[in-house]
Amino acid sequence: MVNVLTLNGITKYYGRICALNNVSFSVPQGCVFGILGPNGSGKTTMLGIVMDILKPSAGSFTFMDQAPSAAMRKRIGTLLETPNFYHYLSAERNLRIAAEIKGKGFEQIDSVLQKVNLYHRKTSKFSTYSLGMKQRLAIASCLLGDPDVLVFDEPTNGLDPVGIAEIRELIKNLATEGKTIIMASHLLDEVEKVCTHVAILKTGNLITAGHVDDVLVNEDIVEVSAADL
Ligand code: ATP
Repeated sequence: MVNVLTLNGITKYYGRICALNNVSFSVPQGCVFGILGPNGSGKTTMLGIVMDILKPSAGSFTFMDQAPSAAMRKRIGTLLETPNFYHYLSAERNLRIAAEIKGKGFEQIDSVLQKVNLYHRKTSKFSTYSLGMKQRLAIASCLLGDPDVLVFDEPTNGLDPVGIAEIRELIKNLATEGKTIIMASHLLDEVEKVCTHVAILKTGNLITAGHVDDVLVNEDIVEVSAADL
């Protein structure tokens, strides 16, 4: 099986704070890979390093067995924080602006709106959207350019139960279409419902990583990590 991402001994210090300590794992192509851990365990730092927003203090990683490059990162769609959409513009107009900023054409806008189930509301102003719809529009924006890999930081954070269910369903559908999804979460229940693979972090250390069927059956590990979640 091809690995989309392989981390080798990634370590990150912020001054004297060790946010990640010698973390190594691989993300197989086509999986939904959860990075699970409580607040402060290093999830966002991990995603920031992978996306070249942060430099590791030590260690390295590869994309598709190659050194990370600008060309490779174009194949990755990221949702690290909610993008700044214009409240007074429609969803469609907002995606046109996003496409222009990303240097992508407009031809995919209708299809990405369909994928996130917002096509029927494409002419509605962004301000009329629920939080869940806003998050789905953010995911639509990530899908412009048809990336192979999607990186989401806590994609259901702050949403109501309906919004959460819709985002989880959408993530599973995207994986069925062949995307690889890497998502940070502090919810064990979410990882169980959505992810095929998981890496569990605790205060910057990797507790374990692998297929959820192998990792989450280990009651000791689940108990140790769930106590902090
Ligand atoms: P959360 O869910 O709260 O965002 P997280 O699992 O994503 O947590 P990180 O945000 O990566 O964890 O933080 C890991 C550790 O690094 C924490 O101890 C945090 O306080 C620290 N940290 C994160 N960013 C910085 C920074 N810019 N400067 C100093 N320390 C930082």
